Amino acid sequence: MAIIGIDLGTTNSLVAVWKDGKTQILKNKLGDEMTPSVVSVEDGKILVGKPAKERLVTHPELTVSGFKRYMGMKKEFHLGDMVFSPEELSSLVIAKLVEDAEATLGEKVEEAIISVPAYFNNDQRFATKTAAKLAGITCNRIVNEPSAAALACRMQDMSVEQTFLVVDFGGGTLDVSVVDCFENIVEIQSIAGDNHLGGRDFDEVIAKKFCEENGIDFNRLTEVERGTLLRRAEVCKMELSKTTSTRMHFRMGEKEYSLEMTEDILIEIAGNLLLRLKKVMSKAIKDSGRTPRDITKVLPIGGTCQMPMIRIYLAYLFHKSVDEMPSGDRIVAYGLGTYCGIKMQNKDVKDVLLTDVCPFSLGTEVTNYLEPIRPIMSVMIERNTVLPAKISQVYHTTSDIPMFNIYQGEGYYAEENVKIGFLALDDLPDDIKGMRKHIELIFAYDINGILEVTAKELSTGQESSVTIVSANNPLSADEIEEKRNKMKQIGFVEEEENQEVIALASRIYEESVGSIRDRADYLLQMFLNILQSNSPIRIRKAREQILPILRSMELYVNTDVFDMEFEDDFEEFEEEDK
Ligand code: AMP
Repeated sequence: MAIIGIDLGTTNSLVAVWKDGKTQILKNKLGDEMTPSVVSVEDGKILVGKPAKERLVTHPELTVSGFKRYMGMKKEFHLGDMVFSPEELSSLVIAKLVEDAEATLGEKVEEAIISVPAYFNNDQRFATKTAAKLAGITCNRIVNEPSAAALACRMQDMSVEQTFLVVDFGGGTLDVSVVDCFENIVEIQSIAGDNHLGGRDFDEVIAKKFCEENGIDFNRLTEVERGTLLRRAEVCKMELSKTTSTRMHFRMGEKEYSLEMTEDILIEIAGNLLLRLKKVMSKAIKDSGRTPRDITKVLPIGGTCQMPMIRIYLAYLFHKSVDEMPSGDRIVAYGLGTYCGIKMQNKDVKDVLLTDVCPFSLGTEVTNYLEPIRPIMSVMIERNTVLPAKISQVYHTTSDIPMFNIYQGEGYYAEENVKIGFLALDDLPDDIKGMRKHIELIFAYDINGILEVTAKELSTGQESSVTIVSANNPLSADEIEEKRNKMKQIGFVEEEENQEVIALASRIYEESVGSIRDRADYLLQMFLNILQSNSPIRIRKAREQILPILRSMELYVNTDVFDMEFEDDFEEFEEEDK
């Protein structure tokens, strides 16, 4: 029975284990370390990962990505006639990762340690645990992504005392943590973040600039057009991580549009996003009681930190060189692998200690005697308190059904914060009715960043307590079982390697014109015919030959320089197939 670490990313997910004294990242069934966090429905079955990602363009109505952004929220995703919640979609990704990990490890996976953005709130963390349950796996431990990264980094060099600033800039979220490392102790000092700032915002400013310069109304694009344009913008952004200028193309109907994009233009149009990044870093450093000078190392992690402009900006702000991490986008997974070792009490890592903090202040609403219609927030646990934390306070009321609204946030007035729960003591005995009551409120915040609130009536010595975990009516054990059965019945598409070929060829067909389109069509038809043969050897051989050709064609589709490199492969394949 194994324990695995899952870096459940907005864009990609990874699985790590602790094996033979070190972290190992496991490959999925397709031989990749990264599995795109994308789900698609095909003929009533589920596709997850690379083949699903290809279908974002060809079957946008049946495919979804980026659902991590909605974890813990009441949102429905309609894929054809199937409806999923963000938790259910995440559970499908988790189930696929577990299935592939079991195949690689050759043993059953018993437990998963899952990472989440540090700035994930109570509901989002709870939703992540629910997703694990729906996937049929135990998750007793949730680790903050930047904390896992700091742990991995510390494991690489434990010689000197350090203060890290971990800047975790992903596809949809930004998390910044200040971390102290002393010998084998990794102590998170503060966390700040923005749950709505990430790589996608850069794609969007590029796409909007493209529209502005070409006289296109961004808001009037169809869903498919917008998806394709944003994808092109993302490719353009990635190109600008390698070179200082590139040309972006987009076809709408019969018309082809293009724009020369440079790093300078990107810096100009993304200035506002950089300011938002600076604000979050400033908050994290201030909260830790440090100054930028105390930071000994800046750790840029997450895909968006691969943009040179981000690293240049960080180097400028901190007056020190900011290097890309050697393990780059795998650093969180490396930390999770180490965490698996700690959990398994492995001798190599069992003395390593990681402490974390809570990202938000938590409290309850109390009467504001100066302005009764605007209750104020009474903070119980202040942000950046070390976890686990347990705090109790006594409140007084004459109400016969004492009620407590639970909030998180930093606003003075309760209404300025996010309501995360509600608790009422509605079963108090009759003999204390009308009397002044003393209620002890206890906030217990566990190491996973999940809150439990208990209330006890003390005045008569009688006790009553209620526990809440989420404002969004968490699922009961029966509901989870029912949903889990539903997920199990849907099942995954089999032979996803073949689906990868079909989905990629279909996307190239859709995104190209002329000879490239004809070739994609030809290869697709040929592959579908070979599939009919039901001969595993023929199918595998065709797959191994067609995939590299499609990959070169994909390169061509993404660039504007005519690159005929794939021509030879294509002809070779035609010859062989005759
Ligand atoms: P993550 O959630 O950490 O996987 O980050 C995904 C985000 O990183 C997406 O918005 C990607 O477009 C972006 N990204 C990945 N690689 C690069 C790159 N080389 N240059 C710029 N952005 C990148």
